[in-house]
Amino acid sequence: MNRHLLTILFCSIYFISLAQIKKAPPRQEGEGPWPQLIIRGVTLINGNGAPPTGPVDIVVENNKIVNIKTVGYPGVKIVPADRPQLKEGGKELDATGMYLLPGFVDMHGHIGGKAQGTDAEYVFKLWLAHGITTVRDPSAGNGLDWVLDHKRKSAKNEITAPRILAYTAFGQGSKEPISTPEMARKWVKDNASKGADGIKFFAASPKIMSAALEENKKAGLRSAGHHAQMDVARWNVLHSAKAGLTSMEHWYGLPEALFTDRTIQHYPADYNYNNEQDRFGEAGKLWQQAAPPYSEKWNQVMNELLSLDFTIDPTFNIYEASRDLMRATRAEWHETYTLPSLWDFYQPSKVSHGSYWHYWGTEQEVDWKKNYTLWMTFVNEYKNRGGRVTTGSDSGFIFQLYGFAYIRELELLREAGFHPLEVIRAATLNGAEALGMDDKIGSVEIGKLADFVIVEENPLANLKVLYGTGAIKLTENNDVIRVGGVKYTIKDGIIYDAKALLKDVAKMVADEKEKTGYKILQPGMKE
Ligand SMILES: [Zn+2]
Repeated sequence: MNRHLLTILFCSIYFISLAQIKKAPPRQEGEGPWPQLIIRGVTLINGNGAPPTGPVDIVVENNKIVNIKTVGYPGVKIVPADRPQLKEGGKELDATGMYLLPGFVDMHGHIGGKAQGTDAEYVFKLWLAHGITTVRDPSAGNGLDWVLDHKRKSAKNEITAPRILAYTAFGQGSKEPISTPEMARKWVKDNASKGADGIKFFAASPKIMSAALEENKKAGLRSAGHHAQMDVARWNVLHSAKAGLTSMEHWYGLPEALFTDRTIQHYPADYNYNNEQDRFGEAGKLWQQAAPPYSEKWNQVMNELLSLDFTIDPTFNIYEASRDLMRATRAEWHETYTLPSLWDFYQPSKVSHGSYWHYWGTEQEVDWKKNYTLWMTFVNEYKNRGGRVTTGSDSGFIFQLYGFAYIRELELLREAGFHPLEVIRAATLNGAEALGMDDKIGSVEIGKLADFVIVEENPLANLKVLYGTGAIKLTENNDVIRVGGVKYTIKDGIIYDAKALLKDVAKMVADEKEKTGYKILQPGMKE
């Protein structure tokens, strides 16, 4: 998010070819699709706000849901005659006592890059292992052709990967920086004709933003915007939404739209945007400079965004190190699942953007905790007034790991005030709607595609059961165990053993460590 943003703004991708990660290998994982698949006896937690219901049998033919049949009552033995019959060549999956949800949509999924050293296989398996069956790549960091190639292969299930949508970084591939509205229009038309699904904007002048958004709308494509601070004083979220941007990423540009007693963020005199500690330290004070919750201005901006059917994709998790650095660096999955190259990429550095803890202390964390409270209040109320809030992870930066960070995002939506069913809806149907794909995915309905998440524990009671590392539980016998972790991820009617995918990832990490003798050490600590 931040590191690639700055890379794009200042290292000028216009003149260099994109360094790409290793392509995903041909698919070796997953079983199916079958002419008929019946998932038996499961409790359905749908993405449309409906309460859990079960037991149900879900019948899929090839890749389409054809029947969702209630087959009994909780605690009552199921009458076999009442159940859908298995056809010849069909497959039965006994999911008695388990929970089934629509496949998750990650609205902010960078596939990783050379800098992170994360091959496509590593990233895709971590995503699928956490139930993510659809990903929007906001910037096509490996180049549009690379992403479209993977998109096609994923659509045909030739690779083990979620379905992919490519939102090209605005200006990517252009021989020179886009400096006029005409250039912007031309780039947008080219992007559409190449087959991109949309555009990811960072920052540009108002004239260029207006022209690009107008042209993109004409082409029928959607857009995502990260309102970087270099242009936000003259073009904030409200400008974007009015001009046709369909979703905002993160939070930048929103407090700026809420200013009442200033027009520019309170930058101290010695602030330098190219100093990451300055950037993130001062950003932590930003929400406190905006109109307070439920004030006239706050309501007015919110209602205007609502009237524009604007989507908010907060990516709460990617900033969590700002309010609790140790939590982010000590996450229990790093040891087994974080690649050495990725761990190196996360480390504090003056030149590596996004690694802003030059001296990150109590003061900064307290500021950020206040930031979160105000930001979450806005997002939760936006949801309460009918606004669309989606789930995006932005992993691969700031100690946030693919897949795991997505589940953390669900927990943070819960913290913001979402009911667990509202969290699941944000992760499924809302994402599908924001992508214009709700006729195909996002909820378990007849006619939609067979994208599901199956887990043995109830995620509404504890979202942590969706982490690959599971949730901690004490048994009747006083033994400490782990429960949960997604059991099966089903994409396009193909059943993936989520735990086997995680094992593959753990092996990749272990092999890499063995080869290099690498040990994960906390920042600044020596062996
Ligand atoms: Zn990002």
